[in-house]
Amino acid sequence: MSLVYFYKDVNNIKTGVNNFFERIAKEMGSSTATVGLKIHFGEEKNTTYINPEWLKDVKKFFSDPVFIECNVLYRGRRTFTDDHIAVAKEHGFGFIEIDILNGKKGEETVEIPINIGLTKNAKIGRGIEKYRSIVVLSHFKGHIISGFGGAIKNIGMGLGSRPGKLDMHSSVMPVIDAEKCRGCALCKENCNVHAIDMEKGKAVISKEKCIGCAMCIAVCPRKAVRVPFGNDTSERLMEKMAEYAAAAVKGRCMWYINFLTDMTYRCDCVKRKQKPFMKDIGIVFSRDPVAIDTASLELVEKNFGKDPFKAHNHRNGKHILEYSEKIGLGTMDYELREV
Ligand code: SF4
Ligand code: SF4
Repeated sequence: MSLVYFYKDVNNIKTGVNNFFERIAKEMGSSTATVGLKIHFGEEKNTTYINPEWLKDVKKFFSDPVFIECNVLYRGRRTFTDDHIAVAKEHGFGFIEIDILNGKKGEETVEIPINIGLTKNAKIGRGIEKYRSIVVLSHFKGHIISGFGGAIKNIGMGLGSRPGKLDMHSSVMPVIDAEKCRGCALCKENCNVHAIDMEKGKAVISKEKCIGCAMCIAVCPRKAVRVPFGNDTSERLMEKMAEYAAAAVKGRCMWYINFLTDMTYRCDCVKRKQKPFMKDIGIVFSRDPVAIDTASLELVEKNFGKDPFKAHNHRNGKHILEYSEKIGLGTMDYELREV
């Protein structure tokens, strides 16, 4: 069984973060040299990423903290390092060093042998080799393909280099339901690799160009874009993310803090303002990524009355928890302790 600590005073989240940072610093003892803080800075125009103000005391606990992240797969302001860092600073994260691990263009990779399930060698951002101690700061929210995103997704997908991210997404190939499509072209405008064309007033996806980022599914107002029914792609993506997560943590000291705040149905990669669908719950902390995501999901279910992500995104997000447990990333068996 793993321990998960729960801080529920939503009006004083910074106090809770400091409490968790202090616990981590104590566990580290003298090895507080360079600590990587894995975070998602939020896509341009997104507003519900982790509030940087809550993290501002980090230097009181670690002598050399660095925000770490990887460039993303699709075209946007987080595709290349310079612009990625500029967005991070615009969003308020410029108070400590920012290290983008997969090189200026996202291609720099270290292959970590894992040999589990679908993954032989996980392609992780090369810069991870500099960090033996990592604190994973995850905004808990929905995700169009995995149902929800928490700690496992933050390290699995989040630390993948561009070839690694492509490997994880390779099983996702959406299709357009021409009957439902009204030709508004919103999907085309949001496809960052120009894989969508309009033909006779309907959207058409190019299989050659599509990278499976699922942004078109997220933005279509008619629910006309979907991953084909009966296709196991979303479960395959979840399994690959878990396998990449297992590779990323190999040989490292890891700590996890999940923020159950400003929770939205879609992820922080969405390039627009989203409205949270429920009240804030608090923050949780653990050494176990499976336990912390399980506890986060169950806290959301308890407070909302059911799994809102499953109801909205039509994905069985629990699959990633069960699979992660199966491959030894952690356990779904936890004890929740209030602090
Ligand atoms: S966003 Fe939906 S309705 Fe609009 S063009 Fe694309 S598939 Fe059709
Ligand atoms: S999933 Fe959709 S938005 Fe993403 S690359 Fe493919 S067609 Fe474009």
